[in-house]
Amino acid sequence: MTVPTLGTMAARQLVTDLQSFGLQIGDDESGVVRKGGAGPSDHKTITIAGQTIMVPVFTAGARRSPFQARRPDTDGSTTLVRNGEPVGTIQFPATPRFYDLKTAEGIPYWKIALLHGRDTLATTVHQTCIRYTDRRTACQFCAIGQSLEAGRTIAYKTPAQLAEVAKAAVELDNVRDMVLTTGTPNVVDRGAAVLAESARAIKAAVDLPLQVQCEPPRDHGWFARLREAGADGLGMHLEAATQAVREAIMPGKATVSVDRYMDAFASAVPVFGRGQVNTYILAGLGDTAADILHLAERLIALGVYPFVVPFVPISGTPLEQREAPSSEFMKSILAPLGRMLREANMKSTDIRAGCGRCGACSSLSAYEN
Ligand code: SF4
Repeated sequence: MTVPTLGTMAARQLVTDLQSFGLQIGDDESGVVRKGGAGPSDHKTITIAGQTIMVPVFTAGARRSPFQARRPDTDGSTTLVRNGEPVGTIQFPATPRFYDLKTAEGIPYWKIALLHGRDTLATTVHQTCIRYTDRRTACQFCAIGQSLEAGRTIAYKTPAQLAEVAKAAVELDNVRDMVLTTGTPNVVDRGAAVLAESARAIKAAVDLPLQVQCEPPRDHGWFARLREAGADGLGMHLEAATQAVREAIMPGKATVSVDRYMDAFASAVPVFGRGQVNTYILAGLGDTAADILHLAERLIALGVYPFVVPFVPISGTPLEQREAPSSEFMKSILAPLGRMLREANMKSTDIRAGCGRCGACSSLSAYEN
């Protein structure tokens, strides 16, 4: 059977389609599945046309997807089919070597941090959030408690544990950067203090670019303290563009308005540098393409990289039945956004650490070229 070789345009289109439709994989045998938690959940890591991406596999939509992966060969490569026709070759990356290790207390390293994408290590320092347990305040797309309840992670990762795992992941698996996110532990520093002590410990153990992610702290002095502790980049995630959608989908987090985020971005960019502050925007929660592009224009003008990602409905969350955005909708955002980033000379390849650099959750970077 001939499997087509993908050109750049075809690969970009295929990645956008795959991330919207998801992928049917049958039984998972690789152990590289990300279920529950913050960040990309119900996803699997695949490599296609030289890019490593996260693709939904456990969602209701993925079970109806026109894309199917044939059973992998022994080298991990497999044929991707669409409506029964081969459209390319994909690989399932091998399980990282650091996953085999445990701390002295017997905690597997993979419960402390996971490999995301090709070479990004990611952890949720506090696997709990003041907003999560009350459905009146929880973000409806969030699954931060699910992996904890299922015993796939631990509630709090100490600075020493994070440093130990980060060092091993660099030495054994050539990890290039690390994302430290957190559930929001309080409404004052909103996690900045715990991120600073974590970053300090990791940097003392290993030379690894770090992105820290939290809600805007009340005291913007935290940005300098995080930078001084070793954070190379910052993520403050708006998630949705308009206040109406934010209030409907994430009533607790929406109490921190878009304007307050904008003030925080204006304080943070001079500390971290232009393009080194990112925000995650989930397309498909109700904002129009024009809403997202209008916000992106304001963010880019401030020096913030708007990382627009297709929303993936996660099993067990209130939004599990919502449709993922179509690939046409994603393209109507990513193509003009890619042009805007190119014209502003703000590229994912210049980001030192974090989601914008990793880029596995969105095909945005392919539209920057
Ligand atoms: S883009 Fe961010 S959330 Fe997605 S895989 Fe990469 S580091 Fe993880």
